[in-house]
Amino acid sequence: MAGRVVSCPQCGASIEWNPANRFRPFCSERCKMIDLGAWATERYRVPVAESDDSSLSDADESPRPN
Ligand SMILES: [Zn+2]
Repeated sequence: MAGRVVSCPQCGASIEWNPANRFRPFCSERCKMIDLGAWATERYRVPVAESDDSSLSDADESPRPN
């Protein structure tokens, strides 16, 4: 299988997607860490708001007490 080229979600650089790239889908460790950092920051900035993401967060709560 020939290498598949994807774009780094962080900087947009073209990288080859293969198992040897442990930072995929990012081009480098740097982009990966930036993205993880942004993620953590988002989570801190948005504590809990029961607005419109109920479809994502029903895995760690029981829906109803029987
Ligand atoms: Zn990148």
